[in-house]
Amino acid sequence: MKSGTLTPHITDAEWEVMRVVWANHHVTSKEVISILEEKMSWKATTIKTLLGRLVEKGALSTEQEGKKFIYTARVAEEDTVRNYTGDIFSRICKKEVGHVIGEIIKDKVLSFNDIRYLEEILEKKKVSAVEAVSCQCLPRQCQCSVNHHGK
Ligand SMILES: [Zn+2]
Repeated sequence: MKSGTLTPHITDAEWEVMRVVWANHHVTSKEVISILEEKMSWKATTIKTLLGRLVEKGALSTEQEGKKFIYTARVAEEDTVRNYTGDIFSRICKKEVGHVIGEIIKDKVLSFNDIRYLEEILEKKKVSAVEAVSCQCLPRQCQCSVNHHGK
């Protein structure tokens, strides 16, 4: 799968199933059921419905092997996560992105390695940084235009 490919919209419940498939590569519905039944207190039929929906959406492919169906991911975890975060940031003013990223970081437990990684990214970002991020919202859809700060 090419990186940056648009992935289908995956609901919260479907995401739980996708994580099992991503982690295990090839799984049977039985395996997915045994992993999620307890954690989510879902019925086997619910999990089978979710698997079926993910196949319909093109997120999973399925192959019959004897009596079993083997499920494989058709979308990469990294692409799916990237689309998901892109989706979040498309909902806010471009001027707020830095602030929101900061709030996300404040909230999370990070390792020294994570922090080094983030520092490296920020160091590189300085090269292309701008004086002020321009707001690309519709007029009156964000505070910038309502307050007429003219930024
Ligand atoms: Zn804006």
